[in-house]
Amino acid sequence: SAVTRPQVPLRAAVAELPAYVPGSRIPVGAAAFKLSSNENPYPPLRSVIAAIADGAADVNRYPDMFATELTEAIAAALDVQPASIVAGNGSVAVLGHVLAAVCEAGDDVVIPWRSFEAYPIAISLVGATTTAVPLADGGRLDLVAMAAAVTPRTRVVIVCTPNNPTGPAVRAAELDAFLRAVPRDVLVVLDEAYVEFVRDPDAADGLAVFAAHPNVVVLRTFSKAYGLAGLRVGFAIARPRLARGIRAASTPFGVSHLAQLAALASLRAKDELFARVDTLVAERGRMLGALRTQGWVVPDSEANFVWLPLGERATAFAAASARSGVLVRPFAGDGVRVSVGETEATDDLLAITGNWLSGDR
Ligand code: PMP
Repeated sequence: SAVTRPQVPLRAAVAELPAYVPGSRIPVGAAAFKLSSNENPYPPLRSVIAAIADGAADVNRYPDMFATELTEAIAAALDVQPASIVAGNGSVAVLGHVLAAVCEAGDDVVIPWRSFEAYPIAISLVGATTTAVPLADGGRLDLVAMAAAVTPRTRVVIVCTPNNPTGPAVRAAELDAFLRAVPRDVLVVLDEAYVEFVRDPDAADGLAVFAAHPNVVVLRTFSKAYGLAGLRVGFAIARPRLARGIRAASTPFGVSHLAQLAALASLRAKDELFARVDTLVAERGRMLGALRTQGWVVPDSEANFVWLPLGERATAFAAASARSGVLVRPFAGDGVRVSVGETEATDDLLAITGNWLSGDR
C-alpha cells in the first residue's frame, strides 16, 4: 500500500553497481596537467572546429538517425561494408548495445581483470553475470585462462587490447588460439579503443580477426587518437546480421549532429591526426624508458598510457602527484595509470616518479 511502500525501489542489479569513478574529481584548472583520463592532449584541429561550428545552425533538427555519411566514411576507411558499422554515443555506449543485443538475463560474460571498469557495470545492467579472469604477469591478458573460463552460460567474452589500464596488446598468435578454443556461438568483443597507438608488429589486428571470425565484434572510438572524447563517437564493426541487432538495441539518434560532423572532419584530417599519434607514441617510449632508468618496473604499453604497479601505495602516489600538479588515475590497492600527454607533462611526471623512488614523499 501507499503507506508501507514509501519509496521507489531500485533494481537490485543497479543498487549494487559500483560507481564509475571518472579520471579525477579534482577540478582540471587546479592542476597543471591532467593525465588521468587517457585523453588526447592536443586541441581540436581548426577544420574540425569549423565543421562543428557549421553544423550548429541545424541543431533544431534531429540528426541522421543512422549517421549514414559517417558510417560510409568509416566503412571506406576500414575497407568493410557500411552494413557492418554501427556508430553510437561513445564506444562505451556501443558496448552496452552489443550486450543488450545478445545477452539474456542470467547469461555470463567473461572479462579480463583488471581492465576497463565500465565492463562489469554494463554487464550488470543487462542482467548478466561477470566472470573476471585475472591478468597474467606484466599486465597481459591471460587468454588461455579466459578460454578456460567459458562455460555453457557464457554468451560474450570481452578482450581489451591494448588493455586499459595496464597497456599490453594481445598477440595475433595467442588470439588465434583463443578463437579456435571458444565456441562459435560465443560473441568475442575486441575492444580496440587504443588501436591507433599500437606499434608491436606481433599485436593482433582486429580487422583481420573480424574478417576471419563471424563471432567477432570490434569496438573502436574517436575519443582517443582522434581527440573527440567530449563529443562521444564510437562504433562497432560486426557482421551485418549482428550489426542489425546492435542497431536495434541502440539509443535512437544516439550520435548527435555535431558529433557526426566532427568525426567526419576528423576522418578527412586523418594524416594530421595520426602524425600527432606518432608524437604521442614517441612520448610514450620516452616515458617508459625514463621510468625504467629510474628503477620502475612497468609493463610495455601499446596505448596512450603507462601503468605503475604501486600496489597499496597507489592512492598515496596519486595524491602526491596531484599536489605536484599532475593528475593521474589511481586504482586503489593495485596501481596508477598515467596518460601520455605533453612533453612538459612527462617531464613533471618523471620528476615526481624520481622523487617518489628516492623516498622524498
Ligand atoms: N574501451 C576502453 C578500453 C576504454 O579505455 C575507453 C575509454 N576510457 C572506452 C572503451 C570508451 O571510450 P568512448 O569514449 O568511446 O566511450
